[in-house]
Amino acid sequence: MNQGKICISICAETATELFEKIRLAEQRADVIEIRFDCLEPMQIGIVLDGLPQTAKQFLLTFRPASQGGRREIDPVERTAFWNTAVERFKEQNIIFDQEFSWRWPENRPDEMTVVSLHDFGTPRSDLEIFYAELSKLDCLALKLAQTADDAIDAIPLWKLLERAVAESRNLIPIAMGEAGKWTRILGLAHGAYMTYAALDEGSVTAPGQITAKDMIEVFGVKDLNRNTEVYGIIAGDTSYSMSPFIHNPAFRAAGMNRVFVPLQVKDVAEFIRRMVRLETREFDLNFRGFSVTNPHKQAIIAYLDEIDDMATAIGAVNTVRIDGQKLVGFNTDAPGFILPLTQKFGDIKGARVALFGAGGAARACIYAMKEAGAEVTVFARDETRAKKLAEAFGCRSSSLPATRQSLQADILVNATPVGTKGRFESEAIVKGDQMKGVKLVYDLIYNPEETLLIREGRASGCETLGGLDMLIGQAVRQFEIWTGHAPSLDVMLSAARKRLSK
Ligand code: NAP
Repeated sequence: MNQGKICISICAETATELFEKIRLAEQRADVIEIRFDCLEPMQIGIVLDGLPQTAKQFLLTFRPASQGGRREIDPVERTAFWNTAVERFKEQNIIFDQEFSWRWPENRPDEMTVVSLHDFGTPRSDLEIFYAELSKLDCLALKLAQTADDAIDAIPLWKLLERAVAESRNLIPIAMGEAGKWTRILGLAHGAYMTYAALDEGSVTAPGQITAKDMIEVFGVKDLNRNTEVYGIIAGDTSYSMSPFIHNPAFRAAGMNRVFVPLQVKDVAEFIRRMVRLETREFDLNFRGFSVTNPHKQAIIAYLDEIDDMATAIGAVNTVRIDGQKLVGFNTDAPGFILPLTQKFGDIKGARVALFGAGGAARACIYAMKEAGAEVTVFARDETRAKKLAEAFGCRSSSLPATRQSLQADILVNATPVGTKGRFESEAIVKGDQMKGVKLVYDLIYNPEETLLIREGRASGCETLGGLDMLIGQAVRQFEIWTGHAPSLDVMLSAARKRLSK
């Protein structure tokens, strides 16, 4: 267990709602931040008068909109608030959050003050100078919060954490946004004084904040240390990824000191250079491997030292293992895809497959089915893309069939996002009346578990297979590649279902 604290930040408009949230936060927090800027002005006095007794520490914050607060706060109101709050609580075990730019009451206790700087613009290049300025102040801790659009944007902040640890200063470094989540998860293991978390999904108070439940139960942030082996998913958008919610429970169930983090990356070359490769990286997070997904599955190949035969043949890598100085690439989509298919359908040699989609997943599916002897036809809305893909694997291609045209296939595979929760949920790539003669409908989509295509397939008398088995299958193989051990299938499956049910 590391020494860091989890601070649950609470935003409520009324005292009643706030006190209820404090009661809930007590279950997981070390520190409870009360965001006074969220309260209706008339409620502030009620809260100051009636702060409940708790074994947890309070952190009081009254931040204007320019610093990420909920509303504009008049300087007169701000001064009056802090004079009252400091006077009332200075003898108690309560922390005050002082924005760097704000002149504070003389009587504030330095040792109970966090001096904070919130920056919502593009990451500043003069962070070092700011840190030097802030470090001149006597205080409990410095808090630097910056926006990150890419995982590498958080590097300057992380380097300051290393400096602060070396200088024995308490620092709370927070890279805000999806791309900065890795700093929230790994901070405590590397000496951050505190990390912030949300009370629940609906109570996020800053971009990229993770719920306290996930911080503790999924990422185990307080159990991490510098020896923790770090894995992660490299993706253009990590917010939809199920991988952290599958691999972390599997690592924990196996008693392994490993963690899996989201790594939202735009420029994969820079990420590998600055954060991963031994010779060039700017600090060491103890990375041991990655999942790779859209749009980097092909681009990553240029930065690897070795690629196994299957990934080479597919032309896409979804798994990287770090062997000492070497980055080695694999593809686990293909085995993850084919196993559930053959388990359900039996031998697919000679089977006619209509595969929809010509993207990264389609490549792995076609490779696996061709290897197993199936006759694959690729259907895609972009005929040129479909033709190119089909030619690469020696199969046929066609444009999307007309609405009533029967498919003339034994197996239908959907490798497009059509049917996914959200925008495409009420759509199916083909209609039930086109499935005459089709024996099995296999939809790669796993969210929702049952798509419209699956329902249409079932109604047409076909066997059906959703994408969850493939998702778990490719994750199982990744886990084996990274750890040399088989994960618990039950743990992975139930963790995925739990997440999907949210
Ligand atoms: P991708 O590389 O973006 O390719 C998507 C393909 O679908 C492209 O050919 C695209 O056509 C086509 N497409 C997109 N929207 C369409 C629409 N409205 N109508 C017709 N075609 C459309 O994505 P991917 O990585 O191959 O993934 C495809 C799907 O498989 C995703 O839903 C993903 O979640 C799922 N998947 C599941 C697993 C699993 O483990 N179960 C693994 C991998 C992927 P254009 O080129 O014309 O845009």
